[in-house]
Amino acid sequence: MPEGLGGEAQRWLDEPVSRCYGCRKCSGGCPMGEEFDWAPHLVVRLAQLGREEALRGSRTLQLCTGCGTCGERCPNGIAAGAVVEALRRRFGEPGGAGTLHRGFLAQVRRRGRIHELGLATRFAWETRAGMDRAALGMALWRHGKLPLWPPRLGGPARREVAAMFRPRGGA
Ligand code: SF4
Ligand code: SF4
Repeated sequence: MPEGLGGEAQRWLDEPVSRCYGCRKCSGGCPMGEEFDWAPHLVVRLAQLGREEALRGSRTLQLCTGCGTCGERCPNGIAAGAVVEALRRRFGEPGGAGTLHRGFLAQVRRRGRIHELGLATRFAWETRAGMDRAALGMALWRHGKLPLWPPRLGGPARREVAAMFRPRGGA
């Protein structure tokens, strides 16, 4: 058994990566796969072998959105996106697209609408990137494209959005 297979990997990871047999269904459905340097099935394979250091600083860690498609397609219940998320925590890498995705969903859940200024500020803070876009942000604000105050959905529409975030089978 190679070093790390189902052993070393399991100390930092909840995903059952030792079950992976390399069918690549995860990679076949990944919407970001063409932009990655390591496809999802290779992320799982590296974790399986205890060679996850190869993923440090990779585009895969930056760009995975955490959409969950890989996990839904895997016949063995392995979520490559969860491996990516665990590696971000381990390496102290904030991620890029995943950070934006989480911020986007958090806003939709809280208000039912997106507040672009708040989303951009959160993204810049969490990724320590994007401050070079401050001039662009100011220009957008001057043209009325970045409202200072967050919009809110009211009444039934807000309740409908809240219902979308309730777990299936919940009240
Ligand atoms: S969670 Fe990440 S790795 Fe999985 S399908 Fe989505 S973008 Fe691809
Ligand atoms: S879909 Fe599952 S079993 Fe197939 S390669 Fe991806 S992680 Fe491995």
